[in-house]
Amino acid sequence: MFRLIVPAFPELNIFSSVANKMTALGPVVVATAASKLWGWRVEVIDENNCKSAPKDENGFVDHRTLQAQSPAEVVGFYCGLSSTIPRVWELAKFYRAMGVTTIAGGWHTHYAPEESLNRGIDIVVHGDGEMVIRQLLNCIAEGKTIENIACVSFLDSEGKCRTNTGEVSDGANLDLLPYTDFGLVRFSKIKIYQIGRIRGCSRNCEFCSVKGKPRWASGQFLFDQVQWLVETRKAREFFIVDDRLEEDRKGSLFFFDKIAKKYGRSLDFTVQARLEAGKDQEFLVAMKKAGVRVVCIGYESPIDEELQAMQKGYSSKDMLEWTKLYHRFGFLIHAMFIWGYPSKKVSELSISTKERAKKFKKFIRQAHLDTVQILRAIPLIGSELRTRLEQDKRLFSLDVLPWEKYDGNYACFQPKNMSLHELQETPTKLMRGFYDPMSFFRIALKTLVFPIDYLVRGWDDWYRSWRNDLRKYGGYLIIKRLRKHYQQDDFIKKLENAKHL
Ligand code: SF4
Repeated sequence: MFRLIVPAFPELNIFSSVANKMTALGPVVVATAASKLWGWRVEVIDENNCKSAPKDENGFVDHRTLQAQSPAEVVGFYCGLSSTIPRVWELAKFYRAMGVTTIAGGWHTHYAPEESLNRGIDIVVHGDGEMVIRQLLNCIAEGKTIENIACVSFLDSEGKCRTNTGEVSDGANLDLLPYTDFGLVRFSKIKIYQIGRIRGCSRNCEFCSVKGKPRWASGQFLFDQVQWLVETRKAREFFIVDDRLEEDRKGSLFFFDKIAKKYGRSLDFTVQARLEAGKDQEFLVAMKKAGVRVVCIGYESPIDEELQAMQKGYSSKDMLEWTKLYHRFGFLIHAMFIWGYPSKKVSELSISTKERAKKFKKFIRQAHLDTVQILRAIPLIGSELRTRLEQDKRLFSLDVLPWEKYDGNYACFQPKNMSLHELQETPTKLMRGFYDPMSFFRIALKTLVFPIDYLVRGWDDWYRSWRNDLRKYGGYLIIKRLRKHYQQDDFIKKLENAKHL
């Protein structure tokens, strides 16, 4: 048996509540490819969505029981998020002690294979995993060496990390992939299905670790996937995980058109797009007709110097205008911001933290955003930002700031133009300003005046403002819980006393 594990988040975070309604797409795609091999039974355990799984005394999935019930010979780990890497190491050591072969794949281990190979992982897979996993499982089943397989890292007989480069045959044609089989995910309840067809990105945002020439499966491929999920799993809600839908505009238009013709607006899609894609009317019309309700947009910052340092590719002057274009079509906008982005010499920011915060507040108010997420800048492994901060000696060593903290909820570097405390606290203050408790009373009021408001403004406008207040109150409760959860004073003090790299 091959068991693929999506490791648990180290602690409560703002993604926790949505994570237990869905599961990460990548591991399920790889598991599906592996499940087509004769002789292998395959399962996925998503530790963030597994209410009915056996649990240990700490509330985590009990892998000892799982292994006793159905022993796996090979276990794979999804290593896309740095914050979950310590959990991967803990489980890898546990499984390896039982004689299980351990495999890891995802951005984190791609950029730092040796680190995990020294902590319980036998093989690291680089890039797309669908073909490599099949080759690995075949070799393991037949007792052959994996040393000649391309795109893997392992420790050689002298304990040195060896990486095989090269290409994996047939892996490039994404249209050949089978339907993603969410039935392989045990113990989970999936309400929102992640789907996607585009990999890589042609942009070069400094903070991002998504690299590689963009390539994609066809719009027909994605349509077939949706149709299959609707028919076999009664799926209604989808999250298209492609970082930039507009990367293959033609394919996306084809997909939305087919969805609109077959399902009208009866399905529910959440998508991710760049802000400037709002200029493309034809694209917005196609999304609207197909039932796209929520568009997640990485605004990052309303401050030009920060946008310039991020290499975002636009300035703040058009941001409000482009936002209005999305709103004109009635899309709900989930806006993602980065707080405290470190300046570069060419775009040095001289304003105070107070002014900075004011600019964020003003922009969020003027843009009428539906939901917002403001996280601290994360020096992600593999990103240019991390390299820059490393060169400037502004990163904390991993014993002071372990990978667990790399989830956007913690200050992860020494800022120059604000204090560590301001880097840590201001995003929470800004979020509290947006997700205010008064929304509770507005929900009640809007429910009371519904009949009149419905006649005056119509269903769409009433529902939007009522739903936004509901979200705001939900957000307020989450932030309240998070504030209690993070004992930040100690954390900041520890950083203040620490030596930098
Ligand atoms: S943040 Fe988005 S647009 Fe920028 S490089 Fe990453 S995936 Fe591409």
